[in-house]
Amino acid sequence: MLIGLLIITGIIFIKYRPVYRVTLNGETIGYIENKNSFEDRIDKFIDTKEEECIAFKTLEADRKYELEFVNKEKVANEDEAFGHIIENTEVVYTMYAILVNEEISSYVETESEAQNVVNELNEKYENQGISIGLRQIYSTTKQEVIDTSVAVAQISTNKIAPIVTSRSQATKRTTKTKTTTTNNTTQPTTYVQKQSSVNGITFTVQPVSGKITSKFGARGSGRSGSHTGLDIATSRGTSIRVVAAGTVVFSQKSGSYGNLIKISHGNGVETWYAHCDSLYAKVGEQVSAGQVIAAVGSTGNSTGPHLHLEIRINGKAVNPQIYMY
Ligand SMILES: [Zn+2]
Repeated sequence: MLIGLLIITGIIFIKYRPVYRVTLNGETIGYIENKNSFEDRIDKFIDTKEEECIAFKTLEADRKYELEFVNKEKVANEDEAFGHIIENTEVVYTMYAILVNEEISSYVETESEAQNVVNELNEKYENQGISIGLRQIYSTTKQEVIDTSVAVAQISTNKIAPIVTSRSQATKRTTKTKTTTTNNTTQPTTYVQKQSSVNGITFTVQPVSGKITSKFGARGSGRSGSHTGLDIATSRGTSIRVVAAGTVVFSQKSGSYGNLIKISHGNGVETWYAHCDSLYAKVGEQVSAGQVIAAVGSTGNSTGPHLHLEIRINGKAVNPQIYMY
């Protein structure tokens, strides 16, 4: 009996060898020999920004490894499997858009470049009724970025000239940030823009600016499943601004979320803001984009002051970094 088993095992190892079958969302993408080195290769690829304009990469497809015995003649094709990993990775780019009268005119690579263009244009067109601004853009499609002098020239020739003739009335010019006064503190509002909107809802305001301490989908430390939101750490009491207009549908303590406020934007789109120190907006209240609805805190299951932001589409949590940050 035992001898028979050994012979069978022996034959299996002579003719076959163990490899891992890798699947992405249940579909086989290839066979590999070493799971750990393959995972390391993926991690390295996700963390590498080949270009400065890459904000981050995200691989959301569910990958699994199953040990299988395959014929020795069959070679493991790690590179092929890795090729599928690359194909399924979404790259999110970031760049700075120059806005002329709230419309995107061109893109530059860095914030300082954008600020230079804005300053130059503001100097040139001061008191001419043109508003110049900049906005950090996150997008899954790479925009063509141009250098600052080209941006100024392009805007001068294509954009500003016709606007000047059609709008001679002077309006106030705005720059990158607008300020709103709340509780005697003035904090800048950071605007975001994405190429696409969800179910007709466009998120235009970043709730807070801060350091991203945990990404969507992260596992581990005190969590039962994967992370359903994005954690942005900033100081306690920082104003939390609503990402788009909507109605407050929930505003109270809720278990591990701590003080939680939920805004319904319509069409099945909700945004949730958790661990708040205080909640300012009440259920039923209509809020406008950028309105301060709560303050950052550390209530509920939280290790320090941060905003836990969730975007829910028909109840399902999606990665907030696809739309902002
Ligand atoms: Zn969180």
